[in-house]
Formats: sequence, C-alpha cells, structure tokens
Amino acid sequence: MTETTTHHHLPMFCDQCEQTAHGTGCSERGVCGKDPDVESLQKVLLYGLKGMAAYKAHARRLGKTDPEVEAFIEEALFATMTNVNPAVWHGPTGKIDARLLGDIARPLPSPVYYVTGPPGMVGAMRGVLEGLGVADDDVRSEEFFGY
Ligand code: SF4
Repeated sequence: MTETTTHHHLPMFCDQCEQTAHGTGCSERGVCGKDPDVESLQKVLLYGLKGMAAYKAHARRLGKTDPEVEAFIEEALFATMTNVNPAVWHGPTGKIDARLLGDIARPLPSPVYYVTGPPGMVGAMRGVLEGLGVADDDVRSEEFFGY
C-alpha cells in the first residue's frame, strides 16, 4: 500500500512581537507575513535562546563570557522580534541610537523617555539621552535582572 503525504499546517499562534494581531497573537498568518512554519522554527529558536541565556548568565557569574555566544543571542533575538512588515509599519527601523532618538523627539514639545531592560542597556540608553542633553527628570527607567 502506498501512503500519500499531505502537508498540514498546525494551527499557528504567534505573540513574538509588538505588531501582533489585536495585541494578543497572530493566528493563521502573521501581520508581518510570517507563516506557521517560520513561526514554529522561531518558537524553537526562542526556547533555545532562553537556555543559552540562562547558561550565559551562570557563566558570567563565574567570570566567563563568550563574545560569539553574545553575538548569536543578540542576532537571533533581533531577527525574531523585528519582523517588521513595511506594508504595515511606516516608522523608523534599526538600532535606537542618538540620531534616531533625536529625530523622533525633536518635534515633541516636552518628551519623557521610558527605558526598560537589562542594566547594561538601560545604562547605555541613559548615556545616549544625557549626550542629547535630556534632563534626568525626563527619563524613567527600570532594570531587569536575573536572566
Ligand atoms: S512576529 Fe509576526 S506573526 Fe508573530 S506576533 Fe509579530 S506580527 Fe504576528
């Protein structure tokens, strides 16, 4: 007897980025155009990254770091969380640096800046804002530890 193979997509649920449908999750197909196969692969990638990040944090506590691991985690996270669909998003894309912040904030009358993330990132962003002449009072920040 010959078996025929039909290719069935499993149901999709993706909440991997800020563009997610209805603020909850994309099903069927992503707002970004992501299909269920890519979504599954990126889900696996995210699980793997959580494990890598946990070991990376333990290793750092023991005084060991590996730039290759750090670069991989950064690139994989960036690739997963920035599936920007140019048909939907018309704002700027890329790294948040002094130029981008300046361009966005310049037209605003009295902007307040919210920075959240790991201490290194929060510190770096505070430095960028200070370089732009932003007063400390106009910056709210929260640091996440333990991952
Ligand atoms: S990555 Fe794509 S499919 Fe996933 S939540 Fe964002 S827009 Fe939806």
